[in-house]
Amino acid sequence: MATNGADQQNQAGRHQEVGHKSLLQSDALYQYILETSVYPREPESMKELREVTAKHPWNIMTTSADEGQFLNMLLKLINAKNTMEIGVFTGYSLLATALAIPDDGKILAMDINRENYDLGRPIIEKAGVAHKIDFREGPALQLLDQLVEDEKNHGSYDFIFVDADKDNYINYHKRLIDLVKVGGLIGYDNTLWNGSVVAPPDAPLRKYVRYYRDFVLELNKALAADPRIEICMLPVGDGITLCRRIK
Ligand code: SAM
Ligand code: CA
Repeated sequence: MATNGADQQNQAGRHQEVGHKSLLQSDALYQYILETSVYPREPESMKELREVTAKHPWNIMTTSADEGQFLNMLLKLINAKNTMEIGVFTGYSLLATALAIPDDGKILAMDINRENYDLGRPIIEKAGVAHKIDFREGPALQLLDQLVEDEKNHGSYDFIFVDADKDNYINYHKRLIDLVKVGGLIGYDNTLWNGSVVAPPDAPLRKYVRYYRDFVLELNKALAADPRIEICMLPVGDGITLCRRIK
């Protein structure tokens, strides 16, 4: 029989009530992915950060371990060096990025809340990658406006991960399209929004899911119609839409 300690460990390894679980046919299938190919290869620092974050009352916001692994692989595949992240929380996707880019790589990381980042920062420091991160506290839109004002920032980012306030994604896109380089990628996270993008109008959705759903639907339409990018929507995590700038 399993001991209490082992039980607790198993619980920590199971995903909790997070948005991405509805996207696969079964929980068992998702658990299989985690146990077979994600957890065995997860860097120790990411595991530690995931476990610290699991105790946070807003742990539902964190990037899932499989998506962290995906981002880490993607960044290496595209040789990303100059990157940006909008929406840091405790820093799981930030750490996945910091571990993937070279030692002289950069991440401009933005969040309106520094306290949550401060929870993750000691782990990021211990992993030896904090020097790549330039964290700015404040509303991302204002920071982006400042960046866009300076021409030398245009076309300078290899990769931008957007995981913040969904009602602003379209506004972010208007600015990010100038900041990402031609051939570079923007990743918009949660574009399947808990599966609610296909929910019938009378479906019993949680209040925040219902509130943001229309913004996500609008974003998805706008991205599909934008001739400046190629897109690929992946059912990883809660859905991520990759946009490759082509002009
Ligand atoms: N990527 C994070 C991770 O891996 O854990 C999760 C980010 S969480 C889903 C969304 C974050 O966006 C929150 O930390 C929140 O404080 C931040 N946020 C919300 N509105 C924002 C805004 N206007 N500008 C910058 N950050 C914002
Ligand atoms: Ca997310």
